Amino acid sequence: MAAASEPPAAGRRAQALLDEARRTPPVVDRASGHRCERGTHSRLATGLVVCWSPPPVEGVRFAVDAELAAQPVPEHLGRRWRGRWGSSLASFWGAWCASEVCAKLADVPIVVLAAAGPVGPSPVTIDQHTITYAVTHHDDLVLAYGVLAS
Ligand SMILES: [Zn+2]
Repeated sequence: MAAASEPPAAGRRAQALLDEARRTPPVVDRASGHRCERGTHSRLATGLVVCWSPPPVEGVRFAVDAELAAQPVPEHLGRRWRGRWGSSLASFWGAWCASEVCAKLADVPIVVLAAAGPVGPSPVTIDQHTITYAVTHHDDLVLAYGVLAS
């Protein structure tokens, strides 16, 4: 019998996938030509799409979000989140991407989630969904990978 503190198998597999995603360069493609059934995606204003396509794990959902690290912070969000995201553009977009993957996985609109400020450190619980996420950087992108294991 597993110890009480040991995460369930789906949770362990999900964490392993997150760790792997953080080490592996993301797949970035032109959004207009990108076709795949299985991946989870994040579209960028530049016309590119980031695709994350981990092997399926029963009971686990995935989400990815990506942003350009150097783009300006939207004024209203910068004001609302003041003092809660660090001091660099990359730290703002890391907090934003983490919030986006949590919103996607918890099925909460990002405008609703963002109104309460950025999500806390991983793992976070939203509406009884416990979401584990990892933020990483690649070239000019900030990325967050998230998993929800039921
Ligand atoms: Zn794809």
